[in-house]
Amino acid sequence: MLKKLFQSLRSPLRLRQPRSTPAVLGHNQHTVARERISRHAVSVVERLQKSGYQAYLVGGCVRDLMLDMEPKDFDVATNATPEQVRAEFRNARVIGRRFKLAHVQFGREIIEVATFRANHPVDEEPENAHQASRHESGRILRDNVYGSLEDDAQRRDFTINALYYDPSSERILDYAHGVHDIRNRLIRLIGDPEQRYLEDPVRMLRAIRFAAKLDFEIEKHSAAPIRRLGPMLRDIPSARLFDEVLKLMLGGKAERTFDLLCEYELFAPLFPASAAALARDPDYAGQLIRQALANTDTRIHQGKPVTPAFLFAALLWPALPARVLQLQDRGMPPIPAMNEAAHELISEQCQRTAIPKRFTIPIREIWDMQERLPRRSGKRADLLLENPRFRAGYDFLLLRESAGERTDGLGPWWTDYQDASDSERRAMIRDLSSRDEAGPAPRKRRRSGGRKRRPAGRGDAPAE
Ligand code: ATP
Ligand code: MG
Repeated sequence: MLKKLFQSLRSPLRLRQPRSTPAVLGHNQHTVARERISRHAVSVVERLQKSGYQAYLVGGCVRDLMLDMEPKDFDVATNATPEQVRAEFRNARVIGRRFKLAHVQFGREIIEVATFRANHPVDEEPENAHQASRHESGRILRDNVYGSLEDDAQRRDFTINALYYDPSSERILDYAHGVHDIRNRLIRLIGDPEQRYLEDPVRMLRAIRFAAKLDFEIEKHSAAPIRRLGPMLRDIPSARLFDEVLKLMLGGKAERTFDLLCEYELFAPLFPASAAALARDPDYAGQLIRQALANTDTRIHQGKPVTPAFLFAALLWPALPARVLQLQDRGMPPIPAMNEAAHELISEQCQRTAIPKRFTIPIREIWDMQERLPRRSGKRADLLLENPRFRAGYDFLLLRESAGERTDGLGPWWTDYQDASDSERRAMIRDLSSRDEAGPAPRKRRRSGGRKRRPAGRGDAPAE
């Protein structure tokens, strides 16, 4: 009895191996309502079926509808090749080079139509390394082999993402026990978890993303290898990781996602400098990052725009002071040290997540603003108010204060200043200069030596 139990624990059967014939759920056995599906997606499926192809809605849209959530988009899977799909629709075009897909466009809505694909078997590799579809680590480099519907189910990542819905019969095909896992709120890889992560380490991030988005648990065998394999994310192209980080942080569940990333030790491979700052000063860095993410989530739920620049500015900010001090200790004056530290930090981060220039420039501007916001005398305050980055800089200042940075009341001062009349503003600026006059006499500048100015950051307002 015990021996049998032991064997069954070790047997790969405990893993979710896909079935060769699917479980079929009739229309009264599931909650997917046809009316909630984009009529364009339904018309694409029906048209392909009429032409003799197999076609289904698949992936996130079926999963989300089963959970009574609003799908982000509607994806179709078919045995028609992209060229055959293009031939069926006037409004279709083929995109991608290696991984070809057809996009069928209806006004602003695009229905993505993918041809059934198969996994590359590990043991059928061509000798020629240039043609190899896998890296020696097992990572899949190319994913361009067409296959059957069964193959297509097998190559998908999680059981809950491998459900196929046929709008004509309103039936769901379940090859991988996805319905069971949806009901039990579990994220579970199809097949052997370690192998599936080795094939594509980004699946570890996807597991976290779906766990946060759907409020699901990561099933224990799918969770177990993540901490050990996390460092493999370093080999993923930085452009793909940037896209993935945006999906993680802009899905409306960024705070929960951050907690899960930390729990599974995936934050460090994505943001090494920020993770080091978190380890040094968990209260301050944790508070600042979580507050920034909570604000992002709120804005997304309110339908307000969010900028990746603000998000990255916040994620990297706690790593900045230590860098600045290091450079100052090597004799660099404060302002150049701040500029150099910001530059280094952003370029290092780009090695992990390729942040495009249209975001790195505003990150720098938000940080520069932190040095300028304390300097308000004369016409400076009014000039700053007119600066197009003022709002982001001011919001960032409030974020720093909410994480416990001491700024000598700078945030509330700016809040009042924005609401004040002209005469009140003039009085506020006069108050500032009289406060300065009443304060200690400014120290004479020395050519060298003297006390170094602390950089903006933990516990200190940037000096005026
Ligand atoms: P959402 O769009 O809500 O983020 P989704 O499940 O639709 O979730 P997509 O990234 O749009 O996710 O991918 C569509 C489908 O393609 C997934 O449901 C999954 O079946 C498959 N898929 C995507 N990425 C991978 C991957 N890295 N490995 C295996 N299958 C994947
Ligand atoms: Mg999708």
